[in-house]
Amino acid sequence: MSEDEFAAARRDMVETQIKQRGVTDPRVLEAMERVPRHRFVVAGHERHAHDDTALPLEAGQSISQPYIVAAMTEALEPKPSDRILEVGTGSGYQTAVLAEIVDKVYTIERIAVLSRTARQLLDDLGYTDIEYRVADGAQGWPEEAPFDGILVTAGAERLPERLLEQLSDGGCLVIPIGGRIDQDLYQIRRSGSRFEDRFITRCRFVPLVEEREGPAE
Ligand code: SAH
Repeated sequence: MSEDEFAAARRDMVETQIKQRGVTDPRVLEAMERVPRHRFVVAGHERHAHDDTALPLEAGQSISQPYIVAAMTEALEPKPSDRILEVGTGSGYQTAVLAEIVDKVYTIERIAVLSRTARQLLDDLGYTDIEYRVADGAQGWPEEAPFDGILVTAGAERLPERLLEQLSDGGCLVIPIGGRIDQDLYQIRRSGSRFEDRFITRCRFVPLVEEREGPAE
């Protein structure tokens, strides 16, 4: 497929999978049209990059379905001046969508090879305002907190308290919470010392693995 064909596939993906399911934030729609999703899938899967589904990555992980990336990004209510924390770099695709919209993205991945590969690709694509860390993202990134928004792209069994503490006033945490197979995606907004939840959609993420469960790789 040529670059023009990939761009056409992205426009079609935005129309049929994302707008039709109710995502309206123009910044999110534009970002999804710009980020070359085919560069983030494993070699050989480029033709399927725009399918309405998650796709496999290295190390048993997966790149999220386009609609879920769009719905999560919209739920974060990102503004250009924001500093955002992402937990679960994976392929770096969601990181790129965020970097299209906001000034600064901090992204944490527990599997070193995924972080390295994502960083190389995002550097190649010219995304410079991203900081990377290999660690347990459930602990957040306290040295850089507070964040205007926090996005967790792995399924948590329960709400990680450390992340709530690192959210700025008025900021949102977007996180899938539930079992190992499927979860409910929530937006949790901080207003002073109060937190309000809003259910977004059912979803299926690989598990958020916390450090006490053993080292990566
Ligand atoms: N946003 C990614 C989705 C990756 S899947 C993308 O668009 O491709 C979820 C990722 O979360 C996996 O790469 C997994 O290794 C990572 N992960 C799971 N538990 C984690 C933790 N506690 N800290 C950091 N990363 C974690």
